[in-house]
Amino acid sequence: MRILVISDIHANYEALEAVLADAGAVDETWCLGDMVGYGPDPNLCVETVRDLSNLTCLLGNHDAAILGRMPLAAFNGEARRSLDLQSRVLTADNVDFLRSLPDSTLTNGAVTLAHGSPRDPTWEYVLNTLSARLNFDYFNTPFCFVGHAHLQCMFQLDEERNRVSMEVPPVGEPVEMKPRAIFNPGSVGQPRDRDPRASYAIYDPIARTWEPRRVEYDIAAVQARIRELGMPEKHAARIAEGW
Ligand code: ZN
Repeated sequence: MRILVISDIHANYEALEAVLADAGAVDETWCLGDMVGYGPDPNLCVETVRDLSNLTCLLGNHDAAILGRMPLAAFNGEARRSLDLQSRVLTADNVDFLRSLPDSTLTNGAVTLAHGSPRDPTWEYVLNTLSARLNFDYFNTPFCFVGHAHLQCMFQLDEERNRVSMEVPPVGEPVEMKPRAIFNPGSVGQPRDRDPRASYAIYDPIARTWEPRRVEYDIAAVQARIRELGMPEKHAARIAEGW
């Protein structure tokens, strides 16, 4: 069984298309939120996700901001400018779809899903072993999948020693999943681990494996769209370098 796990698409349609093509046939898709923000194509991205069959999808902090559920002042200047532009172009159907998404955690079988973290689903970043350790107390399932940090990584809890380790498993090699652990598929549309390739993962709940994957996409085309729309240059620059 193959479940596609994606997060933080951030209106980068080229990256999303490359991920869907690279993933091939899947049984389900779990999207951990943030379809909008930063990039040039929020409508195409929301529509593409909406149309995926067997979809589980969460609301991210950028999605919540578009809905007016959190003040734009909570975002830095450039992120705010993109959200402001996107809130004016997003179609009513796409806004309705975002409005239908949960801003809480969800449980699917052995996995708790959160955009940011199980403790603070919309906002908290699980970036290091300290924030990961705190969050193991906020879910009961063997595994938790989070996005938001834009880093492809995993955190393993050693329950006997009460210690957490952070690992970046090699791309393309399925990891045998051992309870308990937190996994992040990385960001489709704006990776921040200095690898500009679109980031995602394939989860097999039967074999209990997690396979981190990366795929190249046409970054120059997305940069051209960002510039054409007069969106912040920073968002064009960073996708070429992965920061
Ligand atoms: Zn994000």
